[in-house]
Amino acid sequence: MTPSIQSKLPKVGTTIFTQMSSLAAQYNAINLGQGFPDFMMSEELMDLVNTAMRQGHNQYVHMNGLPVLRERIAEKSEKIYGTKLNPETDITVTPGGTYAIFTALTTVLRPGDEVIVFEPSYDSYVPNIETNGAIPILIPLVYPDYSIDWDLVKQKLSPKTKMIMLNSPHNPTGSILSKNDIEQLRTLVKNTNIFILSDEVYEHLIFDDKQHESMLRYPDLLERSFVCFSFGKTYHCTGWKMGYCIAPASMMREFRKIHQYNCFSCHSPVQFAIAEYLQQEEPYLQLGKQLQKKRDYFQQMMQQTKFKALPSYGSYFQLYSYDQITEESEMDFAIRLTKDAGVASIPASAFYVNKEENKVLRFCFAKNEATLEAAVNRLVAAFQ
Ligand code: GLN
Repeated sequence: MTPSIQSKLPKVGTTIFTQMSSLAAQYNAINLGQGFPDFMMSEELMDLVNTAMRQGHNQYVHMNGLPVLRERIAEKSEKIYGTKLNPETDITVTPGGTYAIFTALTTVLRPGDEVIVFEPSYDSYVPNIETNGAIPILIPLVYPDYSIDWDLVKQKLSPKTKMIMLNSPHNPTGSILSKNDIEQLRTLVKNTNIFILSDEVYEHLIFDDKQHESMLRYPDLLERSFVCFSFGKTYHCTGWKMGYCIAPASMMREFRKIHQYNCFSCHSPVQFAIAEYLQQEEPYLQLGKQLQKKRDYFQQMMQQTKFKALPSYGSYFQLYSYDQITEESEMDFAIRLTKDAGVASIPASAFYVNKEENKVLRFCFAKNEATLEAAVNRLVAAFQ
C-alpha cells in the first residue's frame, strides 16, 4: 500500500496559469492568460548559446553562477541603480526568479514567522511561505489603483513579522512602487529586524517614463533585502528559466547553503551567452518602450469593447474591468470567455487567498500585434 502524505499544501491545486493555458489549448483560444511573449527573442542571443555549447561550455559552472556573468550583473546594477555590488558575495544566479523567491523565503523563515504579503499577489508567494511553516499576513492593495495602505501595514506588524514581500512592477496589476512608498517603507523597517523580499522580475518593463524603484537604489533597504530578477522576462525567453538574486553578503551566505543542495549550478551555456549579451545596453533599455507600445495598442483596440482598462505602469499585464458586461464571477467569466469567445485571460481573484472579486480579468499584452488584434476582434464579435 502506498503510504499517504500529510500534505504541506492541502488547499493548493494546479496553478491558474497552467489551468487557463490548458483550457486555451483545448478550446483553441488565443492565450492572453499565462504571461509569456509569443514574439521571437533575439537571434543573436540564441546564437551565443549555440556557440557556447559548441565551444564546450557544457559542464557545471560555479554553484554561485558563472563568475563573468556575476561581474556583468554587478556592472549593470551599478550603471542603472548606482549601487556597488561584490559579485563574489552578493549575487547568485538561479534557475528563474520564482526559484530565487522560494530560496530566499526558505533561507529566512521558520515555523510561526509572519510574512506581510500584499494581495493580489503572484500565486507562488503564499504556498512558498506555507511550505516553510510560516504565516502569510495578507494585506489588500487598494482597488482600483492597487496602492499600499501603509497605515494598515503598520497595524499588521507584530513581533513575529519576519519579512515584507514587495513586487514592482506588480503582477497581476501593473502597479509600481512610488517614491512615497519607498519613504514609508524606510521609516517602517528602520531599527527593526524585518527582512525584505523584493520581486523585481519586471524591472525593465516599466512605462510612461516612470522610474523603477528598485531596492538596489537605497542602501538602507538593500542591507535587509533579497532582490530577485529574471532574464526570462528581460530577454523574452521565459522557458529558459534563468534569473538571479542579490542580497548582502551575510544573507547571501545562507541563501547559498539552501541553493547548493537544491539546484547547485544553473544551465552553463545560457550563462556564457548572457554574460556576453549583457554588455549591450540597448536590448534591456528599450524594453519599456517596446512593451508600452503593445500595452497602448491593446488598450486602444479594447475601446471597441465594454471592457474598461485599469492603469498599468509596468509588467506584461493589464487588468480590465468587465462590470459593464456581466455579473458573473471572475473565474466563471474567464472560463466562458475562453470557451465561447476564444480568448483566455486570468481571473484576478486567483491572486487572492480568499478569491476576492472586483470583476476584473488580467490580460497579457506581451504579444505580436496580430495576436492582440485577433483577440480583440473575437471579443468584439462575442459581445456585440
Ligand atoms: N509569471 C507568469 C504569469 O504571471 C506565469 C508563470 C507560471 O506559469 N508559473 O503569467
